[in-house]
Amino acid sequence: MSKIAMKTPLVEMDGDEMTRIIWKMIKEHLLEPYVELKAEYYDLGLPNRDATDDAVTVQAAEAVKKYGVGVKCATITPNADRVSEYSLKKMYKSPNGTIRAILDGTVFRAPITLPCIQPTVSTWKKPITIARHAYGDIYKCTEYRVPGPGKAEISFKDEQGKVLFSETVFDFKTAGVLMGMYNKDDSIQSFARACFNYALAIKQDIWFSAKDTISKRYDHTFKDIFQEIFDSEYKEKFEKAGIVYFYTLIDDAVARVIRSEGGFIWACKNYDGDVMSDMVATAFGSLAMMTSVLVSPDGNFEYEAAHGTVTKHFYKHREGETTSTNSMATLFAWTGALAKRGELDGLPELVDFAKKLEQASLAAISTGYMTKDLASLADMPGKTVLSTEDFILKVKEFLDASIA
Ligand code: NAP
Ligand code: MG
Repeated sequence: MSKIAMKTPLVEMDGDEMTRIIWKMIKEHLLEPYVELKAEYYDLGLPNRDATDDAVTVQAAEAVKKYGVGVKCATITPNADRVSEYSLKKMYKSPNGTIRAILDGTVFRAPITLPCIQPTVSTWKKPITIARHAYGDIYKCTEYRVPGPGKAEISFKDEQGKVLFSETVFDFKTAGVLMGMYNKDDSIQSFARACFNYALAIKQDIWFSAKDTISKRYDHTFKDIFQEIFDSEYKEKFEKAGIVYFYTLIDDAVARVIRSEGGFIWACKNYDGDVMSDMVATAFGSLAMMTSVLVSPDGNFEYEAAHGTVTKHFYKHREGETTSTNSMATLFAWTGALAKRGELDGLPELVDFAKKLEQASLAAISTGYMTKDLASLADMPGKTVLSTEDFILKVKEFLDASIA
Protein backbone atom coordinates (compact mmCIF):
# COMPACT_ATOMS: atom_id res chain seq x y z
CA MET A 1 0.00 0.00 0.00
CA SER A 2 1.41 3.40 -0.91
CA LYS A 3 1.64 6.02 1.79
CA ILE A 4 -0.23 9.33 1.67
CA ALA A 5 2.12 12.13 0.66
CA MET A 6 2.15 15.55 2.32
CA LYS A 7 3.02 18.93 0.80
CA THR A 8 3.81 21.41 3.57
CA PRO A 9 5.43 20.22 6.81
CA LEU A 10 3.55 20.45 10.05
CA VAL A 11 5.31 21.49 13.21
CA GLU A 12 5.76 18.59 15.61
CA MET A 13 6.42 19.50 19.24
CA ASP A 14 7.42 16.55 21.39
CA GLY A 15 6.88 16.64 25.15
CA ASP A 16 7.32 14.89 28.46
CA GLU A 17 6.62 11.79 30.55
CA MET A 18 3.67 9.49 29.70
CA THR A 19 2.47 11.62 26.83
CA ARG A 20 5.95 11.42 25.26
CA ILE A 21 5.65 7.62 25.38
CA ILE A 22 2.15 7.76 23.83
CA TRP A 23 3.38 10.22 21.18
CA LYS A 24 5.95 7.73 19.93
CA MET A 25 3.45 4.84 19.90
CA ILE A 26 0.88 6.85 17.93
CA LYS A 27 3.46 7.79 15.33
CA GLU A 28 4.85 4.29 15.04
CA HIS A 29 1.57 2.35 14.87
CA LEU A 30 -1.07 4.75 13.58
CA LEU A 31 0.65 7.36 11.44
CA GLU A 32 3.95 6.32 9.90
CA PRO A 33 2.62 3.12 8.26
CA TYR A 34 0.03 5.21 6.38
CA VAL A 35 1.39 8.72 5.88
CA GLU A 36 4.75 9.93 4.56
CA LEU A 37 4.97 12.28 7.53
CA LYS A 38 6.46 15.64 6.72
CA ALA A 39 7.14 17.25 10.06
CA GLU A 40 9.58 19.81 11.40
CA TYR A 41 10.49 18.35 14.78
CA TYR A 42 11.03 20.39 17.94
CA ASP A 43 11.86 18.61 21.17
CA LEU A 44 10.02 20.47 23.92
CA GLY A 45 10.82 17.78 26.48
CA LEU A 46 12.10 19.40 29.65
CA PRO A 47 15.74 18.19 29.28
CA ASN A 48 15.99 19.85 25.85
CA ARG A 49 14.26 23.02 27.00
CA ASP A 50 16.89 23.18 29.73
CA ALA A 51 19.74 22.47 27.30
CA THR A 52 18.58 25.25 24.97
CA ASP A 53 17.69 27.73 27.74
CA ASP A 54 14.09 27.38 26.49
CA ALA A 55 15.00 28.78 23.05
CA VAL A 56 13.48 25.65 21.46
CA THR A 57 10.00 26.68 22.67
CA VAL A 58 10.27 30.06 20.96
CA GLN A 59 11.64 28.42 17.77
CA ALA A 60 8.72 25.98 17.72
CA ALA A 61 6.18 28.79 18.07
CA GLU A 62 7.89 30.73 15.26
CA ALA A 63 7.72 27.60 13.10
CA VAL A 64 3.95 27.33 13.68
CA LYS A 65 3.70 30.93 12.47
CA LYS A 66 5.70 29.99 9.38
CA TYR A 67 3.88 26.77 8.41
CA GLY A 68 0.44 27.46 9.87
CA VAL A 69 -0.19 24.10 11.57
CA GLY A 70 1.40 22.51 14.63
CA VAL A 71 0.77 19.55 16.91
CA LYS A 72 2.03 19.57 20.47
CA CYS A 73 2.58 16.87 23.07
CA ALA A 74 1.87 17.74 26.71
CA THR A 75 4.85 19.24 28.51
CA ILE A 76 5.90 19.75 32.12
CA THR A 77 5.55 23.27 33.47
CA PRO A 78 8.34 23.18 36.03
CA ASN A 79 7.73 24.06 39.67
CA ALA A 80 10.30 23.89 42.50
CA ASP A 81 10.04 20.08 42.71
CA ARG A 82 10.69 19.71 38.99
CA VAL A 83 13.71 22.01 39.18
CA SER A 84 15.37 19.55 41.56
CA GLU A 85 13.97 16.42 39.85
CA TYR A 86 15.51 17.48 36.51
CA SER A 87 18.42 19.57 37.92
CA LEU A 88 17.21 22.53 35.88
CA LYS A 89 19.18 25.74 35.39
CA LYS A 90 16.04 27.70 36.18
CA MET A 91 12.28 27.43 36.66
CA TYR A 92 11.20 27.87 33.02
CA LYS A 93 7.83 29.39 32.21
CA SER A 94 4.95 27.32 30.90
CA PRO A 95 5.73 26.34 27.28
CA ASN A 96 2.06 26.75 26.42
CA GLY A 97 2.13 30.24 27.92
CA THR A 98 5.20 31.10 25.80
CA ILE A 99 3.66 29.68 22.62
CA ARG A 100 0.31 31.40 23.20
CA ALA A 101 2.04 34.72 23.86
CA ILE A 102 3.78 34.45 20.47
CA LEU A 103 0.76 33.18 18.50
CA ASP A 104 -1.95 35.09 20.44
CA GLY A 105 -5.33 33.61 19.73
CA THR A 106 -8.11 31.60 21.29
CA VAL A 107 -8.12 28.01 22.52
CA PHE A 108 -11.23 25.98 21.69
CA ARG A 109 -11.71 22.89 23.85
CA ALA A 110 -14.38 20.33 23.04
CA PRO A 111 -14.96 16.91 24.61
CA ILE A 112 -14.92 13.75 22.51
CA THR A 113 -18.32 12.29 23.32
CA LEU A 114 -19.64 8.76 22.88
CA PRO A 115 -23.13 7.33 23.48
CA CYS A 116 -21.73 4.76 25.96
CA ILE A 117 -20.23 7.48 28.16
CA GLN A 118 -22.87 9.56 29.89
CA PRO A 119 -21.87 12.94 31.34
CA THR A 120 -21.86 13.27 35.14
CA VAL A 121 -24.24 16.19 34.70
CA SER A 122 -27.36 14.32 33.66
CA THR A 123 -28.96 17.26 31.83
CA TRP A 124 -26.04 17.53 29.35
CA LYS A 125 -27.01 15.99 26.04
CA LYS A 126 -24.57 17.74 23.69
CA PRO A 127 -20.89 18.75 23.96
CA ILE A 128 -19.95 22.09 25.48
CA THR A 129 -17.06 23.87 23.80
CA ILE A 130 -14.95 26.21 25.91
CA ALA A 131 -13.33 29.13 24.07
CA ARG A 132 -10.40 30.28 26.15
CA HIS A 133 -8.67 33.58 25.51
CA ALA A 134 -5.07 32.44 25.24
CA TYR A 135 -3.26 35.71 25.79
CA GLY A 136 -2.16 37.70 28.82
CA ASP A 137 -3.70 38.03 32.31
CA ILE A 138 -1.93 35.96 34.97
CA TYR A 139 -0.11 33.89 32.32
CA LYS A 140 2.01 36.94 31.45
CA CYS A 141 1.96 38.64 34.84
CA THR A 142 4.75 40.19 36.85
CA GLU A 143 4.60 39.07 40.43
CA TYR A 144 6.53 39.49 43.63
CA ARG A 145 6.80 38.14 47.11
CA VAL A 146 6.56 41.21 49.30
CA PRO A 147 9.16 40.78 52.07
CA GLY A 148 7.60 43.05 54.71
CA PRO A 149 6.10 46.47 55.42
CA GLY A 150 6.14 48.98 52.55
CA LYS A 151 3.99 50.52 49.88
CA ALA A 152 3.05 48.90 46.55
CA GLU A 153 2.17 51.33 43.75
CA ILE A 154 0.89 51.02 40.20
CA SER A 155 1.68 53.67 37.61
CA PHE A 156 1.64 54.19 33.85
CA LYS A 157 4.03 56.34 31.83
CA ASP A 158 3.26 57.24 28.21
CA GLU A 159 5.92 57.19 25.48
CA GLN A 160 6.97 60.76 26.29
CA GLY A 161 7.60 59.70 29.85
CA LYS A 162 4.62 61.54 31.25
CA VAL A 163 2.96 59.76 34.18
CA LEU A 164 -0.74 59.38 33.31
CA PHE A 165 -1.77 57.70 36.52
CA SER A 166 -0.19 56.47 39.70
CA GLU A 167 -1.95 54.86 42.62
CA THR A 168 -1.23 52.97 45.79
CA VAL A 169 -2.22 49.34 45.43
CA PHE A 170 -1.66 48.50 49.06
CA ASP A 171 0.12 49.76 52.11
CA PHE A 172 1.72 46.57 53.42
CA LYS A 173 2.19 46.27 57.18
CA THR A 174 3.38 42.67 56.89
CA ALA A 175 4.81 40.34 54.23
CA GLY A 176 2.53 39.41 51.34
CA VAL A 177 2.19 38.94 47.62
CA LEU A 178 1.81 41.33 44.71
CA MET A 179 0.94 40.94 41.03
CA GLY A 180 0.63 43.14 37.95
CA MET A 181 -1.10 41.86 34.83
CA TYR A 182 -2.36 43.23 31.54
CA ASN A 183 -4.23 42.59 28.35
CA LYS A 184 -4.46 44.43 25.03
CA ASP A 185 -7.49 45.72 23.14
CA ASP A 186 -6.34 44.12 19.89
CA SER A 187 -5.97 40.72 21.54
CA ILE A 188 -9.42 40.98 23.14
CA GLN A 189 -10.85 42.04 19.77
CA SER A 190 -9.32 39.06 18.00
CA PHE A 191 -10.58 36.81 20.83
CA ALA A 192 -14.10 38.14 20.26
CA ARG A 193 -13.89 37.69 16.49
CA ALA A 194 -12.44 34.17 16.83
CA CYS A 195 -15.38 33.26 19.09
CA PHE A 196 -18.04 34.76 16.82
CA ASN A 197 -16.51 33.15 13.71
CA TYR A 198 -16.31 29.78 15.41
CA ALA A 199 -19.93 30.07 16.57
CA LEU A 200 -21.03 30.80 13.00
CA ALA A 201 -18.89 27.94 11.66
CA ILE A 202 -20.44 25.33 13.96
CA LYS A 203 -23.84 27.09 14.24
CA GLN A 204 -24.01 27.20 18.01
CA ASP A 205 -24.92 29.91 20.50
CA ILE A 206 -22.05 31.61 22.29
CA TRP A 207 -21.95 32.90 25.85
CA PHE A 208 -19.25 35.12 27.23
CA SER A 209 -18.74 35.56 30.93
CA ALA A 210 -16.43 37.61 33.15
CA LYS A 211 -16.51 39.36 36.51
CA ASP A 212 -17.38 42.87 35.36
CA THR A 213 -19.26 43.75 38.55
CA ILE A 214 -16.07 43.48 40.60
CA SER A 215 -13.51 44.39 37.94
CA LYS A 216 -15.07 47.57 36.59
CA ARG A 217 -12.20 48.46 34.26
CA TYR A 218 -10.39 45.23 33.40
CA ASP A 219 -13.21 42.73 32.95
CA HIS A 220 -15.66 45.43 31.91
CA THR A 221 -13.41 46.27 28.97
CA PHE A 222 -13.71 42.66 27.77
CA LYS A 223 -17.50 42.85 28.03
CA ASP A 224 -17.64 46.16 26.15
CA ILE A 225 -15.32 45.04 23.35
CA PHE A 226 -17.34 41.85 22.80
CA GLN A 227 -20.57 43.85 22.61
CA GLU A 228 -19.16 46.50 20.24
CA ILE A 229 -17.78 43.89 17.84
CA PHE A 230 -20.93 41.82 18.00
CA ASP A 231 -23.24 44.78 17.31
CA SER A 232 -21.16 46.21 14.47
CA GLU A 233 -19.97 43.04 12.71
CA TYR A 234 -21.92 39.93 13.69
CA LYS A 235 -25.47 40.77 14.76
CA GLU A 236 -27.06 40.22 11.36
CA LYS A 237 -25.02 37.12 10.57
CA PHE A 238 -26.11 35.59 13.87
CA GLU A 239 -29.77 36.38 13.17
CA LYS A 240 -29.48 34.73 9.77
CA ALA A 241 -27.80 31.66 11.27
CA GLY A 242 -30.43 31.49 14.02
CA ILE A 243 -27.92 31.61 16.84
CA VAL A 244 -27.48 34.04 19.74
CA TYR A 245 -24.71 35.77 21.64
CA PHE A 246 -25.10 36.98 25.18
CA TYR A 247 -22.93 38.19 28.02
CA THR A 248 -23.51 37.13 31.59
CA LEU A 249 -21.65 37.38 34.89
CA ILE A 250 -19.41 34.32 35.40
CA ASP A 251 -21.31 33.28 38.54
CA ASP A 252 -24.54 33.19 36.55
CA ALA A 253 -22.83 31.39 33.66
CA VAL A 254 -21.64 28.59 35.95
CA ALA A 255 -25.20 28.05 37.21
CA ARG A 256 -26.68 28.13 33.70
CA VAL A 257 -24.07 25.73 32.32
CA ILE A 258 -24.93 23.12 34.94
CA ARG A 259 -28.67 23.41 34.18
CA SER A 260 -28.19 23.44 30.39
CA GLU A 261 -28.47 20.72 27.75
CA GLY A 262 -25.07 21.63 26.27
CA GLY A 263 -24.55 22.31 22.59
CA PHE A 264 -23.09 25.81 22.87
CA ILE A 265 -19.77 27.64 23.16
CA TRP A 266 -18.77 29.20 26.45
CA ALA A 267 -16.18 31.94 25.96
CA CYS A 268 -13.98 32.57 29.00
CA LYS A 269 -11.06 34.76 29.97
CA ASN A 270 -7.70 33.01 30.11
CA TYR A 271 -7.75 31.73 33.70
CA ASP A 272 -11.48 30.94 33.76
CA GLY A 273 -11.08 28.96 30.54
CA ASP A 274 -8.12 27.04 31.95
CA VAL A 275 -10.07 25.94 35.02
CA MET A 276 -13.55 25.54 33.50
CA SER A 277 -12.29 23.39 30.64
CA ASP A 278 -10.92 20.90 33.17
CA MET A 279 -14.26 20.85 34.96
CA VAL A 280 -16.26 20.43 31.76
CA ALA A 281 -13.88 17.71 30.52
CA THR A 282 -14.15 15.76 33.76
CA ALA A 283 -17.93 16.06 33.84
CA PHE A 284 -18.17 14.82 30.25
CA GLY A 285 -16.15 11.75 31.16
CA SER A 286 -12.43 12.10 31.38
CA LEU A 287 -9.78 14.78 31.00
CA ALA A 288 -8.26 12.33 28.54
CA MET A 289 -11.22 12.91 26.18
CA MET A 290 -10.79 16.68 25.82
CA THR A 291 -9.41 18.09 22.57
CA SER A 292 -7.82 21.49 22.27
CA VAL A 293 -6.90 23.78 19.39
CA LEU A 294 -5.31 27.21 19.49
CA VAL A 295 -6.57 29.41 16.65
CA SER A 296 -4.50 32.55 16.11
CA PRO A 297 -5.89 35.74 14.55
CA ASP A 298 -3.62 35.36 11.50
CA GLY A 299 -4.90 31.85 10.86
CA ASN A 300 -2.41 29.50 12.54
CA PHE A 301 -3.58 26.32 14.25
CA GLU A 302 -1.93 24.46 17.08
CA TYR A 303 -3.49 21.17 18.22
CA GLU A 304 -2.90 19.44 21.55
CA ALA A 305 -4.53 17.35 24.26
CA ALA A 306 -6.04 19.36 27.10
CA HIS A 307 -4.52 17.11 29.78
CA GLY A 308 -0.99 17.11 31.15
CA THR A 309 1.86 14.62 31.02
CA VAL A 310 0.08 12.11 33.32
CA THR A 311 3.00 11.96 35.73
CA LYS A 312 1.57 9.28 38.03
CA HIS A 313 1.23 6.84 35.14
CA PHE A 314 4.71 7.69 33.89
CA TYR A 315 6.31 6.86 37.24
CA LYS A 316 4.62 3.43 37.08
CA HIS A 317 5.76 2.95 33.48
CA ARG A 318 9.31 3.81 34.52
CA GLU A 319 9.16 1.11 37.21
CA GLY A 320 8.23 -1.39 34.49
CA GLU A 321 4.55 -1.58 35.47
CA THR A 322 1.84 -1.85 32.82
CA THR A 323 -0.13 1.34 32.37
CA SER A 324 -3.56 1.99 30.93
CA THR A 325 -3.29 5.60 29.83
CA ASN A 326 -5.86 7.00 27.43
CA SER A 327 -4.33 8.24 24.17
CA MET A 328 -7.55 9.66 22.64
CA ALA A 329 -6.90 13.37 23.14
CA THR A 330 -3.31 13.08 21.91
CA LEU A 331 -4.52 11.05 18.92
CA PHE A 332 -7.17 13.70 18.14
CA ALA A 333 -4.47 16.37 18.31
CA TRP A 334 -2.66 14.54 15.51
CA THR A 335 -5.81 13.92 13.46
CA GLY A 336 -6.87 17.55 13.90
CA ALA A 337 -3.49 18.78 12.68
CA LEU A 338 -3.32 16.34 9.76
CA ALA A 339 -6.87 17.17 8.66
CA LYS A 340 -6.14 20.91 8.82
CA ARG A 341 -2.88 20.42 6.89
CA GLY A 342 -4.81 18.42 4.29
CA GLU A 343 -7.52 21.09 4.09
CA LEU A 344 -5.02 23.94 3.66
CA ASP A 345 -2.88 22.04 1.14
CA GLY A 346 -5.76 20.61 -0.90
CA LEU A 347 -5.09 16.97 0.07
CA PRO A 348 -8.50 15.30 0.52
CA GLU A 349 -6.87 11.88 1.06
CA LEU A 350 -5.06 13.22 4.13
CA VAL A 351 -8.30 14.70 5.51
CA ASP A 352 -10.03 11.40 4.83
CA PHE A 353 -7.30 9.41 6.59
CA ALA A 354 -7.57 11.64 9.68
CA LYS A 355 -11.36 11.10 9.82
CA LYS A 356 -10.95 7.32 9.39
CA LEU A 357 -8.44 7.23 12.22
CA GLU A 358 -10.80 9.15 14.51
CA GLN A 359 -13.66 6.82 13.59
CA ALA A 360 -11.48 3.76 14.21
CA SER A 361 -10.67 4.97 17.73
CA LEU A 362 -14.34 5.71 18.48
CA ALA A 363 -15.36 2.32 17.07
CA ALA A 364 -12.83 0.56 19.32
CA ILE A 365 -14.31 2.19 22.42
CA SER A 366 -17.92 1.72 21.29
CA THR A 367 -17.34 -2.01 20.87
CA GLY A 368 -15.90 -2.27 24.39
CA TYR A 369 -12.12 -1.84 23.98
CA MET A 370 -10.87 0.96 26.17
CA THR A 371 -8.39 2.18 28.76
CA LYS A 372 -9.04 2.00 32.49
CA ASP A 373 -10.26 5.59 32.90
CA LEU A 374 -13.12 4.96 30.47
CA ALA A 375 -13.96 1.47 31.70
CA SER A 376 -15.22 2.89 34.97
CA LEU A 377 -17.43 5.35 33.07
CA ALA A 378 -18.73 3.40 30.10
CA ASP A 379 -22.18 1.98 30.54
CA MET A 380 -22.02 -1.26 28.53
CA PRO A 381 -21.59 -5.02 29.08
CA GLY A 382 -18.42 -6.95 28.25
CA LYS A 383 -15.78 -4.25 28.48
CA THR A 384 -12.13 -5.09 27.83
CA VAL A 385 -9.59 -2.92 29.65
CA LEU A 386 -6.46 -2.54 27.57
CA SER A 387 -2.96 -1.29 28.31
CA THR A 388 -1.71 1.96 26.82
CA GLU A 389 -0.10 0.24 23.86
CA ASP A 390 -2.74 -2.46 23.37
CA PHE A 391 -5.44 0.20 22.99
CA ILE A 392 -3.41 1.86 20.24
CA LEU A 393 -2.90 -1.52 18.56
CA LYS A 394 -6.65 -2.17 18.80
CA VAL A 395 -7.33 1.15 17.07
CA LYS A 396 -4.92 0.02 14.36
CA GLU A 397 -6.99 -3.14 13.82
CA PHE A 398 -10.14 -1.05 13.32
CA LEU A 399 -8.25 1.36 11.06
CA ASP A 400 -6.87 -1.45 8.89
CA ALA A 401 -10.34 -2.96 8.62
CA SER A 402 -11.84 0.35 7.50
CA ILE A 403 -9.08 0.98 4.94
CA ALA A 404 -9.22 -2.57 3.53
P1 NAP B 1 -2.49 15.46 34.21
O1 NAP B 1 -1.23 15.06 33.57
O2 NAP B 1 -3.55 15.96 33.31
O3 NAP B 1 -3.03 14.23 35.05
C1 NAP B 1 -3.90 14.33 36.15
C2 NAP B 1 -4.65 13.01 36.35
O4 NAP B 1 -5.72 12.95 35.42
C3 NAP B 1 -3.82 11.78 36.12
O5 NAP B 1 -3.08 11.41 37.24
C4 NAP B 1 -4.89 10.78 35.73
O6 NAP B 1 -5.63 10.36 36.86
C5 NAP B 1 -5.83 11.64 34.90
N1 NAP B 1 -5.45 11.69 33.47
C6 NAP B 1 -5.03 12.76 32.75
N2 NAP B 1 -4.80 12.43 31.49
C7 NAP B 1 -5.07 11.11 31.38
C8 NAP B 1 -4.99 10.17 30.32
N3 NAP B 1 -4.58 10.53 29.09
N4 NAP B 1 -5.34 8.89 30.56
C9 NAP B 1 -5.76 8.50 31.77
N5 NAP B 1 -5.83 9.34 32.83
C10 NAP B 1 -5.49 10.63 32.64
O7 NAP B 1 -2.24 16.62 35.27
P2 NAP B 1 -1.14 16.79 36.43
O8 NAP B 1 -0.79 15.44 36.99
O9 NAP B 1 -1.66 17.82 37.28
O10 NAP B 1 0.12 17.36 35.70
C11 NAP B 1 1.23 16.59 35.26
C12 NAP B 1 2.19 17.47 34.50
O11 NAP B 1 1.56 17.93 33.31
C13 NAP B 1 2.63 18.71 35.26
O12 NAP B 1 4.04 18.79 35.23
C14 NAP B 1 2.01 19.87 34.51
O13 NAP B 1 2.88 20.98 34.47
C15 NAP B 1 1.81 19.31 33.13
N6 NAP B 1 0.66 19.88 32.38
C16 NAP B 1 0.85 20.14 31.06
C17 NAP B 1 -0.19 20.59 30.27
C18 NAP B 1 0.06 20.84 28.82
O14 NAP B 1 1.16 20.68 28.33
N7 NAP B 1 -0.94 21.22 28.07
C19 NAP B 1 -1.46 20.75 30.84
C20 NAP B 1 -1.64 20.45 32.19
C21 NAP B 1 -0.58 19.99 32.94
P3 NAP B 1 -5.30 9.01 37.68
O15 NAP B 1 -3.91 9.18 38.23
O16 NAP B 1 -6.37 9.02 38.72
O17 NAP B 1 -5.38 7.85 36.74
MG1 MG C 1 -6.16 23.56 33.11
